[in-house]
Amino acid sequence: MEIVRVPRIMSLITKELQIKGKSIGFVPTMGALHEGHLSLVRRARNENDVVVVSIFVNPIQFAEGEDYEKYPRDLEGDKQKLEKLEVNYLFYPDVQNLYPEGYSTYVTVEKLSDKLCGRFRSGHFRGVATIVCKLFNIVRPTRAYFGQKDYQQTLIIKRMAEDLDFDVDIIICPTVRELDGLAMSSRNLYLNEKERQAATLLYRSLKEAEKILREEMAPDKAKRRMIEILSSDPLVSEIQYAGVYDPLTLEEVNQKNNKYLIALAVKIGDTRLIDNLLIE
Ligand code: AMP
Repeated sequence: MEIVRVPRIMSLITKELQIKGKSIGFVPTMGALHEGHLSLVRRARNENDVVVVSIFVNPIQFAEGEDYEKYPRDLEGDKQKLEKLEVNYLFYPDVQNLYPEGYSTYVTVEKLSDKLCGRFRSGHFRGVATIVCKLFNIVRPTRAYFGQKDYQQTLIIKRMAEDLDFDVDIIICPTVRELDGLAMSSRNLYLNEKERQAATLLYRSLKEAEKILREEMAPDKAKRRMIEILSSDPLVSEIQYAGVYDPLTLEEVNQKNNKYLIALAVKIGDTRLIDNLLIE
């Protein structure tokens, strides 16, 4: 695996690959890699000639007071995991190279970015859309892989790729979970033992909501039940949102629909966690 730190060099490499007709599978990440990330990498490895993984903790997607500084970083561990999966290139740029002095250009995907997490994380999706746009231009992927765990992010990236005419297939991969159902996340490392135990409520509330939707198609009742479950543990310090949404518009759904997104964002102690289920 070759490690590339400079965007211009990464770009030269992928330009060459493109000329040679090689397909490029790309997995953008913020590192501290777990099985969720690795499932994306495996899929990319199966479907492409060349695999590029990026690790970049993107400062502009963190709002003031969020966890940018303390976000987990484990380059050595990450390298070993990626080597094992036969990744060809690890793109590991530094902040100065991607946002040099004078940097002034940002990508905003309207409407979708204001919903759900957007209501609580000011500027977050503008930061995400901007970095993914830059990475797409540098890496020139044939296919790019994202996790359903960040469902709103996948919708926003698909919208951006279509609106800005990126010639890339956006591939969404299922959420990988711990044995007790907790969605894997780099932020799970912040949880102490008791908080980790309390975090199992997230998946439980999603599954209960799913049951109510499948049996009764009653989104209001499903939402009430989710909030009841999440409120039952004092370690859940804040429920930012929990409910049933339209999977395309992210508007709250109050009536029978043919598809539902059940989604939530809660804080356990100081740790913000999100999760979702899609119901067809
Ligand atoms: P992150 O490093 O958190 O920015 O995540 C990088 C990519 O991995 C994103 O596309 C995430 O949606 C995806 N991802 C993170 N956690 C999981 C998971 N538990 N299952 C599947 N994909 C995931």
